[in-house]
Amino acid sequence: MSQSVQKSVRTTCPYCGVGCGINVTHHADGMQFQGDESHPANFGRLCSKGASVGETLSLENRLLYPLLQDEQVTMDVALDAVAAGLQQTIAEHGPDAVAFYLSGQLLTEDYYVANKLMKGFIGSANVDTNSRLCMSSSVAGHKRAFGSDTVPGNYEDLEQADLIVLVGSNLAWCHPVLFQRISAARERNPALKIVVIDPRRTATCELADLHLALRPGSDTALFNGLLVYLAAQGQLDQAYIEAHTEGFAQTLQQARNDVADVAAAAQRCGLTALQLEHFYQWFAVTERTVTVYSQGVNQSSFGTDKVNTIINSHLATGRIGRPGMGPFSVTGQPNAMGGREVGGLATMLAAHMDFSAEDIDRVGRFWGASTLASKPGLKAVELFQAVADGRIKALWIMGTNPAVSLPDADTVRAALKTCPLVIVSEVNQNTDTAAYADILLPALAWGEKDGTVTNSERRISRQRAFLPAPGQARPDWWLVSQVARRLGYADAFAYQAPVDIFREHAALSAFENDGTRDFNLAGLAGIDTAAYADLQPVHWPLTEGATAGQARRFSDGRYYTPTRRARFIAIGQRQPGYAADGDYPLILNTGRVRDQWHTMTRTGKAARLHSHCPEPYAELHPLDATAQDLADGDLVCVSSRWGEIIVRARLTTHQLPGCVFVPMHWSLEYAATACVDAIVNPVVDTVSGQPESKFTPVRITRFEPAWHGFVLSRDPLKLPPVEYRVNVRGNEYWRYELAGLKRLDDALQWSRELVAEYPLAEHRDEPLQWQDFADPGAGHFRSAALRAGRLQLCVCIAPQADKLPPRDWLSGLFEQPAVDRDTRLNLLAGRGSGQSCGGPVVCSCFQVGMNTLIDAIRQQQLLTTEAIGQSLQAGTNCGSCLPELRGLLSQHRRETDNSGQTGKQRAA
Ligand code: SF4
Repeated sequence: MSQSVQKSVRTTCPYCGVGCGINVTHHADGMQFQGDESHPANFGRLCSKGASVGETLSLENRLLYPLLQDEQVTMDVALDAVAAGLQQTIAEHGPDAVAFYLSGQLLTEDYYVANKLMKGFIGSANVDTNSRLCMSSSVAGHKRAFGSDTVPGNYEDLEQADLIVLVGSNLAWCHPVLFQRISAARERNPALKIVVIDPRRTATCELADLHLALRPGSDTALFNGLLVYLAAQGQLDQAYIEAHTEGFAQTLQQARNDVADVAAAAQRCGLTALQLEHFYQWFAVTERTVTVYSQGVNQSSFGTDKVNTIINSHLATGRIGRPGMGPFSVTGQPNAMGGREVGGLATMLAAHMDFSAEDIDRVGRFWGASTLASKPGLKAVELFQAVADGRIKALWIMGTNPAVSLPDADTVRAALKTCPLVIVSEVNQNTDTAAYADILLPALAWGEKDGTVTNSERRISRQRAFLPAPGQARPDWWLVSQVARRLGYADAFAYQAPVDIFREHAALSAFENDGTRDFNLAGLAGIDTAAYADLQPVHWPLTEGATAGQARRFSDGRYYTPTRRARFIAIGQRQPGYAADGDYPLILNTGRVRDQWHTMTRTGKAARLHSHCPEPYAELHPLDATAQDLADGDLVCVSSRWGEIIVRARLTTHQLPGCVFVPMHWSLEYAATACVDAIVNPVVDTVSGQPESKFTPVRITRFEPAWHGFVLSRDPLKLPPVEYRVNVRGNEYWRYELAGLKRLDDALQWSRELVAEYPLAEHRDEPLQWQDFADPGAGHFRSAALRAGRLQLCVCIAPQADKLPPRDWLSGLFEQPAVDRDTRLNLLAGRGSGQSCGGPVVCSCFQVGMNTLIDAIRQQQLLTTEAIGQSLQAGTNCGSCLPELRGLLSQHRRETDNSGQTGKQRAA
């Protein structure tokens, strides 16, 4: 680095629950973002999302001032209106008519204050969080088994294990840095075995020794089968079971009732007995086993039971609380864990306390609150049902987008529309949820706010500000505290800075603890401002007088149940809420893509993050496609009892027949009809309240539009309504993929209206020079608008998708200072430049496409990811694409083997 560093700030990534440290350095000509080599979560690594976080910091779409009924007002006016609205609702309808809906993106300090106001002083527990959608089944499973919401192990266990079982987790895409740590551990220890249990063959499987593509929803049968197998093989740790657990005999009996033996389990899981026995045997004989699980386990109507079958297997073998072993729930969001600590879930009070009489009394005394909530509140899905049926009349949403992310999302939108008072604290003023707000409060974004987050391994890290607060944006804790003061609780909310809140939070965790609650930050209860500013990543618990947190829990075999024994939970046969049937014969699974995060409000700002998966899609097996006469790339309607979306079909044998996968990220802001939660069923887990986002019966039919097209524009446009629209951000341009049912009779007029209403920004004073080609009879239209020789807009319409010109070539023209005459003619003729297309981007850091990679692998006989890196740079920066590169290499090897030729012969 030749530039001199003017300032350096160590902070934490705003995306997933891995919690990677990021070093931000300010130079004379800008900022640099690099993995923090000293952070124990990532040791310098960053994935594609973390590595491009610097490209998401613009003020584009930022909410900079409060809005009251769409009118800009001062902060005082807005806060007065919030307080008055809440006060009136409470006076007229009682405290349970008010609700807060929070987010795993909030900092612990924000969460703490919001929870304290609602549960302590408004007197209702109707405060829940989007973490309910992510890992509440793990919380419930932990509490049932351990008596506390404790993740027993830490990331080092993944590196010390000899067997890693990944269940319902596409770690390669969803927690890429953890995946990279496992990948590196495998290089150091080739004996490390990896088993992936997932109906889909995901990028994670590229590292797997065994992939069990089990039937969706059969996880409890698989793990009950494991328990039965371990007992049959004499592989139980009887001494541990007797000394440290309870309920084993009943649990084993229930497991046997569910699946008598391996053959029965295999039949239920849609696997062969041989496959299953393979896994069971590895598990039985490998002491150092870690079972990692994530949303594929949690997002189910019996997710808590799935979690407990996994924990049962570890308790039965005594593999918990020791290096290289244990059940390990990895969280989706950066601060889902912090929310759990402060009581961000409606089912917990605060500091891991529940609603027992003792806990209510204790927290009430600590807060000086006489109106403390006395019972759990409504969980996310039921909370929005209460908004819909009018029980909740005032709702404050902070930092999340429930109109997109909750199941049966169209019903949620309808509920928000009728709710008398919707308050939204936000960073982005264009979210789908913000559209329903009566009062919009501008919140601070990542880089501006200051506080703490806790990652999946119970490690608390600082998020530090390195940018000034823009406009009137304020921290969430400040907004809540200001409203609390207006409601008459000034003394209890007199915070001046995040450190004041953290100190109180730590003190509450230690208050009358006596070792009965695992969550304990006594060692930080007296932290001063300087120490807080400098706080290094630390595990909880951190007890009184301790200088370091405890990296591993339950090493002594003592738990937080009344008997201090871990509880086995007996799990019988379980079925999802809705089964497939003749009308809806396929099972929908939802999840993330590699380079996007949640509803794209942040990652949508980085052009390179759009290139990996530019359009929403439905991945299905070729057999299911054949049944509907569908081809790869067709537009399809995916419908359920709850709604319908239109996305592009992707055919792959990585999907089981009868199963469909659709990613979760697209909102109305980015697509016309691709919000997958509009079709997800609202069934929830009866214990945790977590929605069943991985199992909705659907059908797929072809969408047959009258026309297909795309618009490329240097400036963002607001397109007229059309059935299929997806906004894709590129370098120097926006691309709009379109298809409509109604024939475009006058495409020329349509193209002119695009810019008439939204004039292109660059050189507005100069007229646009239009060049058009139209064949109305055949339905072809192509048009280009230039200004001073530079391409400003390009419109292409055709009756079939495959008659449209190549996007790569046209979009590349936006980077050119001028477009020459030959190119213009090619453009109107709909011809490409003659250069081959790189294909869908695999390496987003260096923008290397699939076709380029395949050509290089074949022609240069590349055999390793290192060789690909040397040739094309792909995979040499963040490493997020390495699993896909390995997949391409394996595919090439299989093709070569099948053809009976060596790679060399084939290339020749
Ligand atoms: Fe951020 Fe990626 Fe690390 Fe997750 S794995 S915290 S998204 S850099």
